Amino acid sequence: MSQSTLIFATHNAHKLEEVKAMLSATNVDLISLSELGYNQDIAETGDTLLKNASIKSQTIYKAKGQSVFADDSGLEVMALDMAPGVHTARYAGEAKDNQANMRKLLQALEKKTYRTARFRTVISLIWKGEEHFFEGIVNGKIAHREAGAGGFGYDPVFIPYGYDETFATLPLEVKNGISHRYRAICQMQKFIELQLS
Ligand code: IMP
Repeated sequence: MSQSTLIFATHNAHKLEEVKAMLSATNVDLISLSELGYNQDIAETGDTLLKNASIKSQTIYKAKGQSVFADDSGLEVMALDMAPGVHTARYAGEAKDNQANMRKLLQALEKKTYRTARFRTVISLIWKGEEHFFEGIVNGKIAHREAGAGGFGYDPVFIPYGYDETFATLPLEVKNGISHRYRAICQMQKFIELQLS
């Protein structure tokens, strides 16, 4: 099996470590944007997760000309016509305030009994000059109130299907083994392993 280098187009060090661990058994050397000395922010101007993932990977591919991938995730709530979706990070404003975001979400669902939701990750991978997309979904529902201190973002209000507790209450290994990001990475991993075999 051959070895390949792959850029992960993220400035998020936590995400980088998480994905490095997920891909540790695959023959790729993952390089971060900071290792490449690329410190500019990439504006996420797309109106879908797929477009934003693509904007990020294309931007880096144009700058560096090497295989690269980027991800974009969002929370989609059925009773809110799939909002906040692509606006998940900035749902309550530009400050990207997790507490304010969750407050706004719980208020929007105050009188709703139908609380089905999902987290979705889309990955854009540019592999040897061609773009490929992968997706990961974890289904679940929005809790009536926040619970748990672990995780990040909307974890305290998201209860994955098959569990009674929120992502913020469940052990991290459980979340990391069923999460939208993990499932999307697994799809990409299968593709890369086939290419390298
Ligand atoms: P990103 O595209 O991975 O940066 O995700 C966009 C936003 O979705 C984040 O700022 C979080 O608010 C939310 N989000 C993404 N993944 C998760 C997760 O695993 N748990 C909770 N919130 C998440």
